[in-house]
Amino acid sequence: MPIYEYKCAKCGHLFEYLADNISDQAAKCPKCGAKKPVRQLSLFSAAEGARSGGGCSSGSCPTGSCSTGSCPF
Ligand SMILES: [Zn+2]
Repeated sequence: MPIYEYKCAKCGHLFEYLADNISDQAAKCPKCGAKKPVRQLSLFSAAEGARSGGGCSSGSCPTGSCSTGSCPF
């Protein structure tokens, strides 16, 4: 199941949403409850494409979150 990242158009809160069979319209901001968030490029998809090269230790993690220790690699 793809996990998409959304950004709330109202408060700007970023959150992930597991897109099962539910349409984008079902997603809503967990913070303020606003509907119709803007879908962002999936971090997981981006990571999949970059898995063949680079890595956290090289500082080339596509998520840019290596320093936080949250990089999936
Ligand atoms: Zn919100």
